[in-house]
Order: sequence, then C-alpha cells, then structure tokens
Amino acid sequence: MTSKKELLVAALENGTVIDHIPSEHLFEVVSLLGLDSCSNSITIGFNLESQKLGKKGIIKIANRYFHKEEIDRIALVAPNVILSMIRNFRVVEKIKIELPGELVGIAKCPNPKCITNNEPMKTHFKVVNKEEGVVKCLYCERVFDKENLIIR
Ligand SMILES: [Zn+2]
Repeated sequence: MTSKKELLVAALENGTVIDHIPSEHLFEVVSLLGLDSCSNSITIGFNLESQKLGKKGIIKIANRYFHKEEIDRIALVAPNVILSMIRNFRVVEKIKIELPGELVGIAKCPNPKCITNNEPMKTHFKVVNKEEGVVKCLYCERVFDKENLIIR
C-alpha cells in the first residue's frame, strides 16, 4: 500500500520536498526561499488535509537543494517542517526542521535603539525557549517573541 503523500514525494526525480508547512505560512516560505524568482519547476500544494495541522502546505522543487542557513530561515516561520532530499526518485535525506539554538544574521532586532540597527553588523539572537519561540538579542539583551522578528 502506498499512501498519497508517498506518491507525491516519489513523483520528483531530483530535488527537495518541503512538507508539513502550516497553510498560513506557505507563501511566506515560498518568498523566504526566493522561490518566486526561481526558474526550477515547482509544485505547490495548498490547504491539503493534515491530521496534525488541520490544513497544510507542501512544496516540491525540482533540482534544488538547500543550505543550513536557508533552512534556519524556514524554521523561524514554520517550525516542524519536514525536508526530504530526493535523488533518483529516492529520499536520500530527511530532516525535521526545528528552531536552532542561535540565529545569526537572519532577523532584524525589533529594538530601534539596538546597536545592530545602527551599525553595519550581523544580528545575533539566542533562542531561550524553542517551543514558544522566545529569543534574546545578545547585543541589547531584550527578549522577543519570534513573531516580532523581521526576517531579512
Ligand atoms: Zn537588539
């Protein structure tokens, strides 16, 4: 027995499948990964049934693999996403994306007085609570909810 989901994955010869994206963040993930300006063949499934999430989104990108830094950006808006790397119709690697312990150069500090907003330097946040997405800026030492961060 093959489930529908497995068929979706198997249909891709080479590339990446990003699954379990909450529907409300699907298009954010598309733009964060720059897929709106990418010439690869992309299949997007939106508002698919999911027992875990209610509605979910899935993106299949042909002939494209992602770096750790790009994946960390997805984790910020859509934690628990599953990334499958496909080669020759086979899943060669499967990664569950979670918020990393630290975010370097990914998001802007919401504090306008923070030095990172006034000097050309990389931002650096420590994730103090992964489940609730609470981060602390290492420069101004303020604590923020990840929803308040602006991803750049
Ligand atoms: Zn700051």
